[in-house]
Amino acid sequence: MLELPESEELKGLYISQVMMRYLSADSANLELLMNKIPDDWGGEADFITHNKKRFTTFLKSSVFAIGDIEFQLLCIRSTTEITTAKKELDIYKEKMEKAAKAKARFLSSMSHELRTPLNGIIGTSNLILEENSLPENIINHINILRYSSEHMLGIVNDILDFSKIDEGKMELRKQRFNVKDSLERLIKSFENEFKARKIELEFTYDPDLAGVFIVSDDIKLNQVIANLLSNALKFTIAGIVTLNVSIEALSETHVSLFVEVKDTGIGIAQEKQAEIFKDFVQVNENSELRRFDGTGLGLTISEKLVKIFGGQLEVESELGKGSRFYFSLQFEVAPRTVKAKKLVPAPDVVVDIRGVRVLIVEDNEINANILKTFLLKWQMRVMEARNGVQALELVKYHTFDIILMDLEMPEMNGYDALKGIRLTNSTVPIVAFTAALLENMDQLITESGFTDYMLKPFRPSDLKEKLEFYAPHRKIDYA
Ligand code: ADP
Repeated sequence: MLELPESEELKGLYISQVMMRYLSADSANLELLMNKIPDDWGGEADFITHNKKRFTTFLKSSVFAIGDIEFQLLCIRSTTEITTAKKELDIYKEKMEKAAKAKARFLSSMSHELRTPLNGIIGTSNLILEENSLPENIINHINILRYSSEHMLGIVNDILDFSKIDEGKMELRKQRFNVKDSLERLIKSFENEFKARKIELEFTYDPDLAGVFIVSDDIKLNQVIANLLSNALKFTIAGIVTLNVSIEALSETHVSLFVEVKDTGIGIAQEKQAEIFKDFVQVNENSELRRFDGTGLGLTISEKLVKIFGGQLEVESELGKGSRFYFSLQFEVAPRTVKAKKLVPAPDVVVDIRGVRVLIVEDNEINANILKTFLLKWQMRVMEARNGVQALELVKYHTFDIILMDLEMPEMNGYDALKGIRLTNSTVPIVAFTAALLENMDQLITESGFTDYMLKPFRPSDLKEKLEFYAPHRKIDYA
């Protein structure tokens, strides 16, 4: 270890002498090793070899006696290789972390970049479709345009979700909701697609489900079920798709639900069933079925989401007969006293958004124009700012009932603009209007002080619903 020439001998030297000669001047435990090494001790030490090379070691001393004579046994194990390997590992680890951060940054900015023009396409399609007396063929063309861009948005969202889950950043929000009502709305949103393909869609559930409110993430739960339903539809040529939800156990505090989606479709071969949950895997090689487009990410995301909920997504399928995807989940039951936050005002109040004053803060002119066109169509009063600075200026001299605020803008972003507005106005609803699904949107709302958020591209009906919710509620006297 010390690279001694043959003529050099250590025999006869005291251990302390060896130490004095070969220990490095900046070695760990230098002082202790130069004096008397304690009995039964272990620790690090650095040596310099005869050829002036440095090496690191782990040193262990034990003491024993034979008769009257005391011996000290010293083991020195070189750790140079381990130390070098560890240093290299640290370098790689740092590189990997940097790469992962770059990937996350890339994905989030790419999504932003993709969502903004998509917003333009979807918004403009919606605008055209609102025109009266369009020729039938134009309506068909625009519908294809809208369908394709919404489909593309779905893919962008899938990739985003996938990377978020990958990074361990997917968190469940806690919302009080009724599973039956929430799924009924979901089923309704699928009705037209099923009708168009002449496939029956059935929703069966435990009658007790109607009375159960749970605390969980309704959006993510619906995302999983929506994905299973759209696969069932995609891979079924004729027949029926059933969503069934039954109660496995119900107590005061918890409910266990069994959810299954069954179809009478093409099925999946036994040996391929384990494959389908893997990233980007599609198992239908049949070229006739080419129309079954997709990314192969849907089931991966669903399976991971179900895991985050605390369950396991499973499949049973027979080729040519159909498939059945199912999982069981336990949920917390919502206390009866808590009122659900509903997007509907009290029954005696009629919401009229005509004349409501809205400030649009948005740097992208196309987005701003689409938004403005809808608001004007609904006879709202609109002012526009292209960044936070302009917004603060307008808020100084005008009164607004609602502010729709983009987050990323030049000069002053949405967060700072919000802070500025809140200095003088603590009540006006400020809705974050964003193209990117940021991590933990709810946290963004509670921590930065936004009243709510709206994702771009927006569905006109969703936006209208939100505006109705935040518009000052007025009683309209029809007499
Ligand atoms: P995608 O649907 O985007 O291709 P998924 O991850 O949702 O991706 O599904 C992966 C594959 O699993 C599909 O491409 C298909 O081959 C198979 N698959 C999923 N659901 C069904 C189903 N209900 N019936 C038959 N095959 C299915």
